[in-house]
Amino acid sequence: MSWNTACHCGAVSVRLARAPEKIAECNCSLCFSHSILWSYMSPRDVAIEGETRTYNRADRENPNSDLHFCATCGCTTHWSATAGLNERMGGEVDLMGVGLCARA
Ligand SMILES: [Zn+2]
Repeated sequence: MSWNTACHCGAVSVRLARAPEKIAECNCSLCFSHSILWSYMSPRDVAIEGETRTYNRADRENPNSDLHFCATCGCTTHWSATAGLNERMGGEVDLMGVGLCARA
C-alpha cells in the first residue's frame, strides 16, 4: 500500500512505496528549527513531483544533506544525500528523509 503526502499548496507531491514504519526526530539545529519529523526511506521507494528549491547548512563545510522546499509555499518536503555524504560513506547512500509535517 502506497502512502502520499504533499506540501501545503499541493505543488510538490511525495509518494512512498509503503507507509512509514518509523518516525525520526533529528536533533540537529537545522531540523530542530523546522520542527519537522522524518521518515527515512530508500530513494528507490520515493517518487517526488513538483519544483523544489534546496538549502544546505551554511555552517558546515561539505554538509550531509540538501533540504528541499516547495518553490511556491516553502514547506519542507524532504532531504537528499549530498555528494559529500556519499563520499564520506564510501559510496552512494541509499537513504533520504521524507518530511511528515506535510499534509497527506
Ligand atoms: Zn507548496
